[in-house]
Amino acid sequence: MKERHFGPVWFIPGENRGKYPYCHSVFIPDAGILIDPASDRGRLERLREENTVREIWLSHWHEDHFMHLDLFDDLPLAISAPDTQPLSDLDALLDAYGLDEDFREYWVPLYKDLFHFRPRIPSRILEPGEIVACDSLTIQVISAPGHTPGHLAFYFQEPEVLFLGDYDLTSFGPWYGDVHSSMSSTIESVRRLQKIPAKVWLTSHETGVFENDPDQIWDKYLQVIQLREEKLLHLLGEPRSMEEIIDACIIYRKKREPRAFFEFGERAHMRKHLEKLTQEGRVVLEKGKYHLL
Ligand SMILES: [Zn+2]
Repeated sequence: MKERHFGPVWFIPGENRGKYPYCHSVFIPDAGILIDPASDRGRLERLREENTVREIWLSHWHEDHFMHLDLFDDLPLAISAPDTQPLSDLDALLDAYGLDEDFREYWVPLYKDLFHFRPRIPSRILEPGEIVACDSLTIQVISAPGHTPGHLAFYFQEPEVLFLGDYDLTSFGPWYGDVHSSMSSTIESVRRLQKIPAKVWLTSHETGVFENDPDQIWDKYLQVIQLREEKLLHLLGEPRSMEEIIDACIIYRKKREPRAFFEFGERAHMRKHLEKLTQEGRVVLEKGKYHLL
């Protein structure tokens, strides 16, 4: 993928098309603001050496957005208030994912070695609706909770560029598997972002740059949630235990390794769907199995 410049907004592609564990970064050279430093370490090192980075912003606390934050340890860090805590401590981060003990053994060394995790206290909080005026452009901070409670999108007013972060319009669909993720807020946030008039849309993963209105892609992205629910309801044609539901691989389609990633993600999302269906009075848990009502 190629680096793209939309006036004062630079799109820095992540390695491997910004697929996890990478993401695409956004850089505003005039203001020295680098958003989500987990794209390409070599490119970010060059930006660092050129002395052009003055502040790091995070769209949210996930590791595939802060992987190379260690290059900028001495610079101010900005994030939303609700997403601050997981960055302050590795246990708090693993708790925010709801990771069980046996999976933590897998993740702790990865956080240290691959993701260069070091506890960080942000030097400033990005407030929803905040307007940041720079020389060359005006940035609007947009609260877009769901994926995480404090997930932010950014609208760059003059070039009419909208950065959607992890509402990434991929065929995988949205992630809402953390303890404090919300499926309904994800849908609301995506619909709200969809209404913002823009000329260019940037996302954190894969395609990354949309220069035509991604009209139907928004719908397809959200339809993934509905499809997951339909598959689960179909599976519950007979009562199923949580383990049987996980074995159906509704999220990832087949069993994949490492379990600490894929089985965790499968369970986390199925739990959210089952909570929703239970609240709606459509599913009940009895004797360790989920039943349709
Ligand atoms: Zn994320």
